[in-house]
Order: sequence, then C-alpha cells, then structure tokens
Amino acid sequence: MTASGADTIKLPEIKLVDKYNRRLDYLRISVTDRCNMQCIYCMTHGKIQKLPGREILSYEEIFRLALIFIKLGISKIRVTGGEPLVRKGVCDFLIKLGRLEELSDLSITTNGILLKEKIGKIKSAGIKRLNISLDTLKKDKFKKITGSDAFNEVWSSIMAAHDSGFYPIKLNVVVLRGINDDELLDFAGLTFSYPFHIRFIEYMPIGTSHLTSRQLFAPEIKNIISSIGHLNPVQRNRFDGPAQRFKFENAKGEIGFIRPISEHFCSSCNRLRLTASGNLKTCLLSDTETDLKTPLRNGCSDDKLAEIILRTVYDKPFEHPLSSNCAGIIPGHMSKIGG
Ligand code: SAM
Ligand code: SF4
Repeated sequence: MTASGADTIKLPEIKLVDKYNRRLDYLRISVTDRCNMQCIYCMTHGKIQKLPGREILSYEEIFRLALIFIKLGISKIRVTGGEPLVRKGVCDFLIKLGRLEELSDLSITTNGILLKEKIGKIKSAGIKRLNISLDTLKKDKFKKITGSDAFNEVWSSIMAAHDSGFYPIKLNVVVLRGINDDELLDFAGLTFSYPFHIRFIEYMPIGTSHLTSRQLFAPEIKNIISSIGHLNPVQRNRFDGPAQRFKFENAKGEIGFIRPISEHFCSSCNRLRLTASGNLKTCLLSDTETDLKTPLRNGCSDDKLAEIILRTVYDKPFEHPLSSNCAGIIPGHMSKIGG
C-alpha cells in the first residue's frame, strides 16, 4: 500500500522543513502511555496519572496522521510508548504500517517483557531493527530499577529476537551513578559475544530531576569502558540516529553513546514525536506541543491537518536548554512522550 492509498489527500508539495532548514523525516509515535514497568528515571513510581482511554488516539486516527506525515516527507517511523506492546492490537497496527511502501524504516522501542510472545507478528510487519531497554544484567537490580521482576523474560526476549534474525538489536542503557555504573564493563563486554549495539544513554531530567546528581556523561563512560579495549569509530550510515558509534577490535557488536546533555545533537535533529494523546512535539526536551487530536476529531480535512503540522514544524526550537553545566527540569513525562 502507498500513502497515496488515502487518495483524497491532495497535499501541497511542501515538505517538513523548519526555519533553520532542518529536514524532518523521522517520526516517533507513542501508541500508549501505559506501561508494565515503572523505571525510576521514567516514572515516579505510580504518581503519574494515566490518560483516560478516550484521550488516547485510536489506531485509525494514528494511521490517518501517519499517512499525512508520510505525504509530507516522513520516511522513518519508530513505534514506542509507554510500552507499545501492552496496547491491544499493536501487532496488527505494525503490520498495517509495515505495508506502506514510502517507509524506508519501521522499528519499535520496547522494554522486552512481551516481545518474545509477539516476535513472529513483529517480524511479519517487516521490522528488522529493535531497540530494547535493559539497564542492568542483574535480576535483583532489575527489579529495583524497573519495579518489575521480569529480568528473565526480557533476557529471553532478547535471545529470541537474536535467534529470529533481528538486526541490529540495540540495547538501551540509561547510565546512573551508583545504580548501574558498576556494570558498564559487563555491558561493553556483551559486544564480544553478541552482535548487539549497546547504547549508553545520558539521563534526561524529564518531569522530575531526582536523579540529576547521578547523571554520568558519555566521556566518563567511554573512559571507563576503554579499559577493556580500544574503541574505533564506526562509519555512519543512513539509519544512524544521534548515537556516536564505536566498536572494539574483534567485537561482534558496537557501542553507541547518546548524548542529549553533554553534546546535544539539536543542530542535526530530524525527529518529530506524536504523543499517545495526539500532540505533536517537535523537541523532546521542550514543553511545547501542538494538539492534533482536537482538529482531527472535529472533522478537519487532511489538507488542514497538514497545514497545522507544517506550521508547527517550521517553528521547531533551535535547541534545548540543558547541558552538563546547566541543570534543569523539563516538564512532561517520558512515558507519555515515548523517548
Ligand atoms: N517502554 C519502552 C522502553 O522502555 O523501551 C519504550 C518507551 S521508553 C520512554 C523509550 C526509551 O526512553 C527507553 O530506552 C528508556 O530507557 C528511555 N528513557 C526513559 N526515561 C528516560 C530519561 N529520563 N532519560 C533518558 N532516557 C530515558
Ligand atoms: Fe515503561 Fe519504558 Fe518508561 Fe520503563 S522506560 S517505565 S519500560 S515506558
């Protein structure tokens, strides 16, 4: 199917470009704010109010918006959450998205608990690349970080994904001093046994800053893991996000550093985010959102929605205000935005 399958859409030939001439071609769609974990850096243990079901976009609504975004130049979509795999019908939705010929890349970010049981369907959607969050290799600590006892399920999902041929499998590790920095070498060492991409992510204070004192930045992480080998830079490719990529000599996998704070990648940011409640966010670390759900539900035409999207994108902020020298707190909740 092509995005022009929505034959009624006659959108202008204007593409998603902001006033700083950045071309936006990557959309992250959060399909739910619900999650079967409560990670300490994402949810403040049960204090986040869930959106009422009617506030969350239906799959039909998300799909309609996705077609408009694709018409405007989006070629890569990542489905995220909350935990995307807890939403009923998500695999059929992925399969529907996977049929869109204009998409050069469709991927998901998941915590992995439900991945193993859904792996066949996810593969049949044409998804090859997976991001799975895993902050510790220790079962007890896993429970402390995520509030869930599911380490074994997650690890077995990672193995099942590996055995089913998904590549690359990126393991997202949010690094926190005194919590999991003692495992940096274990994570880095995994790249000698498996072709995984271990991605060390700097903690972002979104919704709460209670872990800011535990922030560990990429240079320090790199320094620590360099004790087990020399890290050679990896040539970038067209699917590369903001990760700075490296590989140890003779390793099967890679190391990536995601540095939203210590060296932000705003000047080359190509991302947009559609939240579970139907808001368009042009910057993860900005509190500005544009409501697409209300016009969508009030009978707005595709052309009009496209106009709202183009106008919002044009005003994408140049950069976010956080840096390693400038602490702060960004309003919102990661579980609602989708990471
Ligand atoms: N539930 C899925 C998962 O955990 O993979 C998808 C949604 S989650 C919000 C997406 C990513 O955001 C995860 O890799 C998670 O580690 C990361 N994340 C959440 N809160 C964060 C924070 N405060 N700082 C940095 N990364 C964060
Ligand atoms: Fe859930 Fe993902 Fe947030 Fe953890 S990071 S609480 S798994 S949405």
